[in-house]
Amino acid sequence: MKILVINAGSSSLKYQLIDMENESLLAKGLCERIGIDGRLEHKPQNGKPVFASEMNFPTHQEAIEAVLEKLVSEEYGVVSSMSEIGAVGHRVLHGGAEFTKSCLVDDACEAAIRKCFPLGPLHNPANLMGIKACQAVMPGTPQVAVFDTSFGMDMAPKAYMYALPYEYYEKDSVRRYGFHGTSHRFVSARALELTGKKPGTRVINAHLGNGSSLSASIDGKCVDTSMGLTPLAGVPMGTRSGDIDPSIIQYLMTQNDLSIDEMMTVLNKKSGVLGISGVSSDFRDLDNAAAEGNVRAQLALDKFAYEVKKYIGAYIAAMGGVDVLTFTAGVGENSSSMRASICEGLECFGIKLDPEKNKGRGEIEISADDSDVRIFIIPTNEELMIARDTLALVQG
Ligand code: ADP
Repeated sequence: MKILVINAGSSSLKYQLIDMENESLLAKGLCERIGIDGRLEHKPQNGKPVFASEMNFPTHQEAIEAVLEKLVSEEYGVVSSMSEIGAVGHRVLHGGAEFTKSCLVDDACEAAIRKCFPLGPLHNPANLMGIKACQAVMPGTPQVAVFDTSFGMDMAPKAYMYALPYEYYEKDSVRRYGFHGTSHRFVSARALELTGKKPGTRVINAHLGNGSSLSASIDGKCVDTSMGLTPLAGVPMGTRSGDIDPSIIQYLMTQNDLSIDEMMTVLNKKSGVLGISGVSSDFRDLDNAAAEGNVRAQLALDKFAYEVKKYIGAYIAAMGGVDVLTFTAGVGENSSSMRASICEGLECFGIKLDPEKNKGRGEIEISADDSDVRIFIIPTNEELMIARDTLALVQG
């Protein structure tokens, strides 16, 4: 079966068409500036040319129509007709505490996505728009919602509760949900496969990209994860602060006469490694600036590595040890210097990198022969995870 995977944002829509016979990518692409003017980039993987051009997309529906037209077209297509697409899998940010697994889109699922609008105000409405657009353009094709929060639903109450009055948990659903769940699920499952699926295997994943999060899991079930009610929590990120003393918010608002919206913009868009360095949110820019002697760029890199290292230590404590450590996403997969900085000093926990292997790329083991903990780079593939869930649900 061929499955279309959709990640709809408020003004963009990323897609991949995956052939589940051999889990191969047939085409991928991106619609941008939906509702503004519109642009489509479509990349067939069968040797046909890339299509990239301005196109008018008043809504997500026109964007999906354009994608389907390209997928079946003579010049850029990868399938002969739309009927070859057996199902659509959608990335949905927030499923709340009700959705512990992916689900076929029906009225209850839609209602749950809507109920979580206040918890994911930027993403959930856009994700639902993507679902509605596909329903309109591909009536009869099953749609599946895959939630970023479902991985975190295995956490025990002591891990997901905040030490706030209990009524806010009951009344307002305030708890740790965790995000990047589809990536953590994919990478931890792969880590188990690579290490022989021994029962009780304890895995720490470091998903380090523009947004970063860590997870601790045993046998693929989440024990703890660093993001919280929202993706602002945890380690510092490209532009997000990660964990801070909550009183800083009131203090800075008073000192600088900031509204709560302005303060949230500071925390979400002006903080993290961008905030510390004043240079960039991009780790390659920071590496370059630090190499040229920029002290604040180096400080931002040091702070990032230090906080990731502390989370690894915390998760070793939470699980009573660790068997496998993985690195994934843009920084985790590509930055050997960041992996080395993070692992430096963790030898006391049996975590020892091999400096030569650590220079490698792709899915590889990078631990030293005498490391107690096995360390891997595992490229994440959230789209494939979504397609696998979709296939499983459609096949019943
Ligand atoms: P997103 O969270 O947007 O999915 P990615 O996982 O694509 O982000 O990660 C993007 C980050 O990865 C950027 O900060 C980029 O600088 C960083 N990155 C990519 N390649 C390298 C590299 N070779 N060295 C250091 N950082 C890198």
